[in-house]
Amino acid sequence: MDIHEYQAKEILSGFGVQTPVGGLAYSPEQAAYRAREIGGGKWVVKAQVHTGGRGKAGGVKICANEHDVFDAANDLFGRRLVTHQTGPDGKIVYRVYVEGATSIDRELYLGFVLDRSSERIMVVASAEGGMDIEEIAQTKPESIIRTTIEPAVGMRDFQAREIAFSLGIDAAHVQEAVTNIKGCYRAFRDLDATMVEINPLVVTTDGAILALDAKMSFDDNALFRRPDIAELRDKSQEDPRESNAMDRGLSYVGLDGEIGCIVNGAGLAMATMDMIRLAGGNPANFLDIGGGASPERVAKAFRLVRSDDKVQAILVNIFAGINRCDWVAEGIVQALEANPIDVPVIVRLAGTHVEAGRKILAKSGLPIIRAASLSEAAGRAVGAWQKSQEQDVGLEVSA
Ligand code: ADP
Ligand code: MG
Repeated sequence: MDIHEYQAKEILSGFGVQTPVGGLAYSPEQAAYRAREIGGGKWVVKAQVHTGGRGKAGGVKICANEHDVFDAANDLFGRRLVTHQTGPDGKIVYRVYVEGATSIDRELYLGFVLDRSSERIMVVASAEGGMDIEEIAQTKPESIIRTTIEPAVGMRDFQAREIAFSLGIDAAHVQEAVTNIKGCYRAFRDLDATMVEINPLVVTTDGAILALDAKMSFDDNALFRRPDIAELRDKSQEDPRESNAMDRGLSYVGLDGEIGCIVNGAGLAMATMDMIRLAGGNPANFLDIGGGASPERVAKAFRLVRSDDKVQAILVNIFAGINRCDWVAEGIVQALEANPIDVPVIVRLAGTHVEAGRKILAKSGLPIIRAASLSEAAGRAVGAWQKSQEQDVGLEVSA
């Protein structure tokens, strides 16, 4: 789960990381009021959307008076900010953050990620921070410093000092940098984060060290024990299909194809998507209903898959191990009786009590296309989708 910059800054300042004074606004009036509250003569108005690259997309505006702050906020609210990270749909701005403008001497990069190969937290730092870090990583990889943290002892002071020195921070400010670096590390570890990124961490013209931007992501599987973090979720920034699924306890990933998939288990979902591709179609999603497939759960899954207009056929592929095919079949029948689906539904069942399951489907009288194997099911799903396309074309021609 991602959070907003202002939320990350609030969390990190609790761990001793220095950030500029700022305030959140939901309207241009409130933004101007925040500027007055902060004081000083220069402010930055920043779109709060779950993406980086806002500066280059016009989502960070420097303002010299309250009027400018009002206008900048007015321009940002409701705007769909498209950055190099959002994809063409962009993210809509519903909140802006107003901050005192800092006079910057140098922009540095400081990131904390989980390095899967060493199974450790890795600190990534560069003296060449700011908006072009992706480019620097490509063109000047040698300017990037990497340090892994031994989990049993945590980050040691000498490691933070080494990072500070390699960022070119002068001796008088190294201790301040160490406090910032260690603060980020502790926030990462104590809150089950998967990423903390400060870009830029700046040295101000007075020599102070400040986090001007902050991004944090958290491990979804640990949110149950971090209710304060879970509360920071902003659904307006998520794919609505995925947040609907999460609310219903289903794991769902939206894709671009036409064939909806309802599957139990992630491995089976991958295999199903491969088979659909092999048969000449494209999956519209990855929906894993998990171990239990009660009628309510199956019904929810159907509703969710069907709520995507692109879906032209639904393939249900269940391999019952602990589960039972007759229960799943019962679930499918009840779900379809209560909420008929207007696209072809193809069902393949295998595993425990499969015969009983097939009988239930056959007896139901519902227009379910049954398949004995996964390849047959994928072929039938793709066939049903292609047929619906031909019918559409036929209608257009005859009209
Ligand atoms: P993003 O990474 O999404 O582009 P940032 O918060 O990093 O957004 O802002 C982009 C740039 O705007 C920064 O690299 C910095 O130069 C400038 N900036 C951001 N916040 C401030 C601030 N409080 N004072 C002065 N400049 C700022
Ligand atoms: Mg940034």
